[in-house]
Amino acid sequence: MPAYRGRFAPSPTGPLHAGSLLAALGSWLLARQAGGQWLVRIEDVDPPREVAGAAQAQLATLAAFGLHPDGGVDYQSERGHLYLAALERLLADGLAFECHCSRSELAAVGGIHRRCVAAQPRPDPAIRLRVPDGCEIAFDDAVHGRIVQRVDTEVGDFVLRRSDGLWAYQLAVVVDDAEQGITDVVRGADLLDSTPRQRLLQRALGLPTPRYAHLPLLLGADGRKLSKSEAALPVSLDDPLATLRLLWACLGQAPLADERTRTTAEFLREAVAAFHLERVPTRAPPVSAAAHNAN
Ligand code: GLU
Repeated sequence: MPAYRGRFAPSPTGPLHAGSLLAALGSWLLARQAGGQWLVRIEDVDPPREVAGAAQAQLATLAAFGLHPDGGVDYQSERGHLYLAALERLLADGLAFECHCSRSELAAVGGIHRRCVAAQPRPDPAIRLRVPDGCEIAFDDAVHGRIVQRVDTEVGDFVLRRSDGLWAYQLAVVVDDAEQGITDVVRGADLLDSTPRQRLLQRALGLPTPRYAHLPLLLGADGRKLSKSEAALPVSLDDPLATLRLLWACLGQAPLADERTRTTAEFLREAVAAFHLERVPTRAPPVSAAAHNAN
């Protein structure tokens, strides 16, 4: 087991936007700084949301920015047997259950689902994790500090396999992070809320627990989360160096000393040496301000 193995795990739902690229850059920097490995995994478990050609485009973008993975790229669509084995173990241990609830039965419980209240069985039940009463998960995130969540009352019994047979992100990500020996999960803060579920699942499956660092979400000029169209804007493949400088500023890092840096390779080499995780803010400056600082 390596001392440090990180990963970037995009869903192929479109081109990489600035926010995903920030996660890619941050996880790459930390892995390289630790002298560790950095893997890329395409999370293509949701065909209805997948966009044809998106995975290849994402990989091409990473390459254009000089973010090269160690080893081959893994695809979740080829790893269903691993998710099935984990699911069967949870079912056999009584830690997961079939849920026959209909949409309207789920709606009636107001979003936090506990146990199955179905009046009738259905041929295609979902499988959910049985979250114990009083289940509180606490952990220290490297950027956000102490995070505490009551999974039973704030989330409920969450889905592991959907009634349409598709694997839930929570199960696939936990199985893969463990199977690939990931020691450090570095990703966007939109997933901070999912981490207690993943830690609970790791515990239920007897899997090791990685360290976590959740990078800030990018904000638009109005201080709100970037809209889809805005989010696409700052990522310019024509000028990866300018985009790297912008993302570097969004990560709260001081401008690199060497103004003569001319190539992405030079920038990344300097960035690995200069990156300070302690400087990463919980909230990024609006992209317009970061662009100013990056110039
Ligand atoms: N596939 C997820 C996404 O694109 C990220 C998963 C992860 O980093 O854990 O939002």
